[in-house]
Amino acid sequence: MKVSLKREDSKEGDDVMNIVLLGPPGAGKGTQAKSISKRFNIPHISTGDMLREAISSNSELGKKVANIVERGDLVPDDLMIKLVKERISREDASDGFILDGFPRTTVQAESLRYMLKEMGDKINIAIFIDVGEEEVVKRISSRRVCPNCGKVYNLLSLKPKNDNICDECGSELVQRDDDKPETVRDRYEVYIKNTKSVIEFYKSQGKLKTFDGSKDIDKLASSIIDYLESL
Ligand code: AMP
Repeated sequence: MKVSLKREDSKEGDDVMNIVLLGPPGAGKGTQAKSISKRFNIPHISTGDMLREAISSNSELGKKVANIVERGDLVPDDLMIKLVKERISREDASDGFILDGFPRTTVQAESLRYMLKEMGDKINIAIFIDVGEEEVVKRISSRRVCPNCGKVYNLLSLKPKNDNICDECGSELVQRDDDKPETVRDRYEVYIKNTKSVIEFYKSQGKLKTFDGSKDIDKLASSIIDYLESL
């Protein structure tokens, strides 16, 4: 099925706000995306969430990507582009969207530019939440989860009431393997290697706006929203 990207019943293309959110794991992209989505009433599209849903529902796509996602490798560009193209052409994205986790390669970034051109949209902003490796390691390696009920804590910012015990069900909290410092460093390296070119891509077009991600969550959200409102 060919997906039409023409915006027929939305605002003028110029008013549509299409935002790409870039930043390493642990930068707080998900939290910031939720604030932006609420403020501008545009959907938060997380490709990681879409893939995880496809895997848990065992759809055709889910079967294709399960092993790749489990290894932390990148899903092939053609599959990702098809997925995003279908998603952004839906009605709820007609006034814009905020993309979290896409593009991760320059091929994906080029395709997105092409899709937006076809839609007649001119605004495409990339917000880069810049957080250094040491801060990321500190944040993620402080994360603890309850193996019983799944509640997530952070020893720096969201502590349980009693040391290492889940507030909800009293189980002992654990650290996920991929939250251990060595693994976090590996994930950071993979991120830098893959997204460097995407950051350059938006920078060279004058579309990149960088924010200091070491700020507290609410201050960062206000600076990003102030900037977007000023456009
Ligand atoms: P995330 O939640 O954004 O970290 O994504 C989880 C996993 O989904 C990644 O480790 C990749 O395996 C896959 N993934 C998500 N977005 C993309 C993308 N744009 N390109 C390729 N793979 C992706």
